[in-house]
Amino acid sequence: MLLENKVAIVTGGDSGIGRAISIELAKEGAAVTVNFRHNEQAANEVRQQIEQAGGKALVVQGDVSSVADLQKLVDHTVETFGRLDIMVNNAGMETRTSTIDSTEQDFDTVIGVNLKGPFFGTQFAAKQMIKQGDGGRIINISSVHEDWPMPGNSPYCCAKGGIRMLTRNAGVELAPHGITVVGVGPGAIDTPINKETLAAPEKAAALNHAIPLGRVGEPEEVAGLVAWLASAKAAYITSSTYFIDGGIMQGSVGL
Ligand code: NAP
Repeated sequence: MLLENKVAIVTGGDSGIGRAISIELAKEGAAVTVNFRHNEQAANEVRQQIEQAGGKALVVQGDVSSVADLQKLVDHTVETFGRLDIMVNNAGMETRTSTIDSTEQDFDTVIGVNLKGPFFGTQFAAKQMIKQGDGGRIINISSVHEDWPMPGNSPYCCAKGGIRMLTRNAGVELAPHGITVVGVGPGAIDTPINKETLAAPEKAAALNHAIPLGRVGEPEEVAGLVAWLASAKAAYITSSTYFIDGGIMQGSVGL
C-alpha cells in the first residue's frame, strides 16, 4: 500500500472526484477525513464504504469558503487521527457565467469556494505539517481551465488560474519544510458537475469528439493519480500541475 499510516483530508469528499479520491486514499492505507457541505448521507456512505473495506474514515461538515470551517476540519482530523499528512483541496463549483454576465455574487461565490478554500486549506494544513516536522503533501484539484479558456465560465477559470499560482508559490515556500504542493488538472470527468452536458446526447458526442482519447474520464482515474502524487514515490514533484485530460488541451483539428 502506498499510504500506510498516513492521514488525509479530502474536501468535497462526498461526491464525484472527491468521493473517488477518499476511497482510493483509504484503499492505499490512509485514514481519511471526508468533508461535505450539504449531503451528509453521501459522506456517510463514503465513510461506510471505507470502513467496510477495513479502513478508517471521519466525516466532517464544513464550507470551504469559511476559514473557521477549514480550521475546524484540520482540528477535528488531528484530534481524531493524531496528525495530518495529505490535504486534498478538491471542493469546487461553477456558475457557468461569462465575464459580461457574472454578478458580484457569482464571482464572490466561485472565488470563495474554488480559490479562497484551497488557499486557506493549504495554509492551515501546512501549519499543522510544519508543527509535525516531517513534511507532507498538499494536492490542489485544479482543472485544464487553470490554463485554458472556457468561454461562458469566467469566474471558474479565474479561480482555477489562481490555484495554478497558489500551487506554484506555496510549493516554493513550503519546500524547505519537505511539504510538496501539486496541482491535478482534470479534463472532462464523468461527475455531477457535468451532468447536464453528459445527459444531452449531442453535447456529450461533441465533447467525446473533442477529446483525443475519445471519451470523458472516470473519477477513479483522477483518484489513482492523486494517490500516487500523495505517496513517497512522488517526493520530488512540487509546484507543478499534472493534467489528466485524455489529451483535450493538445487537441488539434489536424489542418
Ligand atoms: P461534484 O461531483 O459536483 O463535486 C463537488 C464537490 O465539492 C461536492 O461534494 C460539493 O458539495 C463540494 N463543494 C462545493 N462547494 C463547497 C463548499 N463551499 N464547501 C465544501 N464543499 C463544497 O464535482 P467534481 O467534478 O467531483 O468536482 C471536484 C473538483 O474537480 C472541483 O474542484 C472541480 O472544479 C474539479 N474538476 C472537475 C472536472 C470534471 O469534469 N468533473 C474537471 C476539472 C476539474 P455540495 O454538493 O454540498 O455542493
